[in-house]
Amino acid sequence: MRKIIVQKFGGTSVADTEKIKNAARTVIREKENGNDVVVVVSAMGHTTDHLVKMAKDLNKTPSAREMDMLLSTGEGISIALLAMAIQAEGYDAISFNAPQIGIMTEKIHSKARIIDIKTDKLRAKLKEGKIIVVAGFQGVTEDGEITTLGRGGSDTSAVALAAALNAERCDIYTDVEGVYTTDPRVVNKASKLDEISYEEMLELAHAGANVLHPRSVETAKQFNVPLRVRSSFKLDDLGTLILGVEKMEIYKPVAGVAADLSQARIVVCDIPDKPGVAAKIFSHLAKQQISVDMIIQSYARKISNTNDIAFTIDASDLDKTIKTLEGLKDEIQAGDIKIDEDIAKVSIVGAGMIDRPGIASTMFETLAQQGVNIRMISTSEIKISCLVDKENAKKAVQALHKVFELEGDSIAEVKGTLPEEEGC
Ligand code: ASP
Ligand code: MG
Repeated sequence: MRKIIVQKFGGTSVADTEKIKNAARTVIREKENGNDVVVVVSAMGHTTDHLVKMAKDLNKTPSAREMDMLLSTGEGISIALLAMAIQAEGYDAISFNAPQIGIMTEKIHSKARIIDIKTDKLRAKLKEGKIIVVAGFQGVTEDGEITTLGRGGSDTSAVALAAALNAERCDIYTDVEGVYTTDPRVVNKASKLDEISYEEMLELAHAGANVLHPRSVETAKQFNVPLRVRSSFKLDDLGTLILGVEKMEIYKPVAGVAADLSQARIVVCDIPDKPGVAAKIFSHLAKQQISVDMIIQSYARKISNTNDIAFTIDASDLDKTIKTLEGLKDEIQAGDIKIDEDIAKVSIVGAGMIDRPGIASTMFETLAQQGVNIRMISTSEIKISCLVDKENAKKAVQALHKVFELEGDSIAEVKGTLPEEEGC
């Protein structure tokens, strides 16, 4: 049986017609290798951002349904253009949007998860020798409503398709050459990783590395889809392979450093220290689809028998969060609700830190030497995150990258590869 390769092109890789031609040639190259090819594309360049801006000009709080109707159109343009570009080279190609295939999602607008992908039509078209071009980022509900998977979601569309089709590999073509030890714009000696595990990539993606949509990595891990992040413009460079941790040889405790500048911290002050209060706060936030990251509950104050709960969220969920908490304030007898957006989460990630003591203390000492105050700390088996003031994020990343010996040998290695935020 012929192997299926899923390729995904991000916004910057299809930003104009020249780039679309380049993507078409990359697709054809894979087809010429004797493989069946399914291509997933994002909207061209900054299209999605422009659409969001137009919506906000007309309505400050546009309804989620109409936002999905609007944003899903971006990918509709790029799939048809890419299919035409492939046809112009003499190859048979056909484009499909999510409802045409049956990329089924939950009934949630703007952040839907994929539930199922129907593969009959895809398999039939592949059998006819066609190259298939699929719209990323969008899905459809049982009732035929259009949904989107969240910004950057076409990575997830690609990996989910690869899993559904049992593909050999999923190649994510982008404008960077792979996954780096940290953002090369912040540390010019950042080095490209040849391999990284799903687990580490997942933590890095959540910690603010903008290379991949976190859910794409989750899906790849769950279905064991080998994932490659590689450059659209340097085809002979194999980029970074993301695979199961058990297949890796790990030498260094830390694989990468990331900073997330889009967090906000909330402190709910003076809440009664009794059972059920945290449950109430976080269940109400969950109902609004708000994900919470770091959580700290302070020691109970003896006299008033109250404590504070501080947590972080994505800044884009701030309005919803405030509204939810204001609605609960009286019921839980809370005092003030404090908000701080001038913060950043700096994380170190590495499967090699398991069972290796001293990593956390090295991180904290390094930050102390830089005069960086730590406001919150959270850890997982393979990640340590510190919340710091936004203005300190850059020097924190630079110092941590150095102390954990992640610097590449030469600066030239990363020249010209500054990552643009992908997927627009
Ligand atoms: N076009 C969508 C976005 O900008 C999806 C993607 O590019 O992955 O978020
Ligand atoms: Mg993207």
